[in-house]
Amino acid sequence: MRNPPSSSSPSNRQNGSKRDSGSSRGIASAGTSQPGLGSEGHDIPVARRSQLIKPQRRFRFRQSLLTATLLLAGTASLIWLFRDPIQRQLAPPPVRGLNVRQGLDGRLLGHFPYPEAPSSDLVDAAPGIALHRDAAEKFLAMQRDAAADGVSLRLLSGFRSIALQKHLFFDVGSQRNQSAEQRARVSAPPGFSEHSTGYALDIGDGQRADTNLSQSFEATPAFAWLVQNANRYHFGLSFPAGNTQGVNYEPWHWRFEGSAEALTLFEPAHRLTP
Ligand SMILES: [Zn+2]
Repeated sequence: MRNPPSSSSPSNRQNGSKRDSGSSRGIASAGTSQPGLGSEGHDIPVARRSQLIKPQRRFRFRQSLLTATLLLAGTASLIWLFRDPIQRQLAPPPVRGLNVRQGLDGRLLGHFPYPEAPSSDLVDAAPGIALHRDAAEKFLAMQRDAAADGVSLRLLSGFRSIALQKHLFFDVGSQRNQSAEQRARVSAPPGFSEHSTGYALDIGDGQRADTNLSQSFEATPAFAWLVQNANRYHFGLSFPAGNTQGVNYEPWHWRFEGSAEALTLFEPAHRLTP
């Protein structure tokens, strides 16, 4: 019985490989002269020496190249990751007249940076007090519902331009003879106030004006009502007692977080004080 031509029995493979190796030897011996054969056979020590030294050098070179590339890539990634803090460190201090720089998370003396709301987004929520229209709508609804419960919520402050915040921080703060750090615990530096967004507001108790902008506000019916209900209108306390931001406890200062824009703006602060 003959094997089919496609099958490769051991004998066939052997024969084939024998033929192949035989023919390749034939080509090698035909193509190379005696010295060529000699370099394969007699000069083995030379070949060994060159094989021992050259690959080692090549390996070391490749290793150094790899290390250098990794170092370079690592440094570039670190620079890219921390490009904002690095730029901040290289730039002049962000607030003129205040020789303090922002930390890694962007905070300046505890306060995050905030943009100023465009005037087109602002509406009056009380005489002379503007808020972002989304915050104004919810505050007025909250004020009405509190009034129905016999509680008087009074809007004391809302949107503040960066220029007004500058006046409050530098002029009013210096009148009190406070250092920048002391001032920052009670008032944000210009460009770092939640009030500039139009989403933050200071609330007082209409029946207890003596507690306005004071920690004693926490003992008023207005504060108790806010603690129970403000979250239903998407308002939250920005600086609760013992907050990790390092800002003094402000029971009167609330911020609106009921829109995607407001949530995005306050996300860094939220991460710090959930
Ligand atoms: Zn405030």
